[in-house]
Amino acid sequence: MTAARQPFVEARIVVGYPNLTVEVNLEADRGDIVGIVGPNGAGKSTVLRAIAGLQPLDDGHITIASTVVDDPSKGVLVAAAQRRVGVVFQDYRLFPHLSAQDNVAFGLRCRGMTRRAARSAALEWLERVDLIDHRDHKPAALSGGQAQRVALARSLATVPDVLLLDEPLTAIDAGARQRIREDVARYLHGFRGATILVSHDHDDIRALTTRAVVLAKGTVAWHGPTVELNEHL
Ligand code: ADP
Repeated sequence: MTAARQPFVEARIVVGYPNLTVEVNLEADRGDIVGIVGPNGAGKSTVLRAIAGLQPLDDGHITIASTVVDDPSKGVLVAAAQRRVGVVFQDYRLFPHLSAQDNVAFGLRCRGMTRRAARSAALEWLERVDLIDHRDHKPAALSGGQAQRVALARSLATVPDVLLLDEPLTAIDAGARQRIREDVARYLHGFRGATILVSHDHDDIRALTTRAVVLAKGTVAWHGPTVELNEHL
């Protein structure tokens, strides 16, 4: 008899707040792009923060690539900086005083790469996200879509096991959103880790994800292939 195969990301997330307990099971394999949808207050950010290491679990566990990163019953809690998890926040959180190239290099420097190697790798990533001509621009000189690509490149350059995207298209003008959605889909297609994407926009979920999880009041109301999501909204 063979042992059950462990998913690349396996999480049982339990976080108790005064008004709500978030209790969510989540699995993702390499290459999966899992969308999380649900109304405000459903627990979406809590799930992302727990995986990133920004919200310790009260119960449950999170395993990434066979490494337990949070398990309160065993006293295990791997710090955010030590997790191979990239996060692209809704507002991108680029460093305003750094150029696009240095923003991308920053993530690599944090992981111990020399300045020279990090800057060179950053250029390759800017090339991949079609921003090589903007390498010297600071965030204030970039459009929303360009800033988002810098943030994506900064995360992907570190080759994380898990990429977390929090409302990746919310800050983009409606007119540019469809084109940028296609760009994001293309960049994610090449990523070999697991992607977890939170969005309240069902068009984002349909265009970008392979599986979807619907949260309501802190629990999973439905999960399944994204193509079946419509019937469950
Ligand atoms: P979402 O991202 O879906 O809007 P959150 O994960 O941010 O949901 O929050 C889910 C619920 O958890 C909130 O409605 C609130 O009841 C509770 N909550 C979240 N963060 C806190 C906090 N820092 N203090 C108290 N309650 C919180």
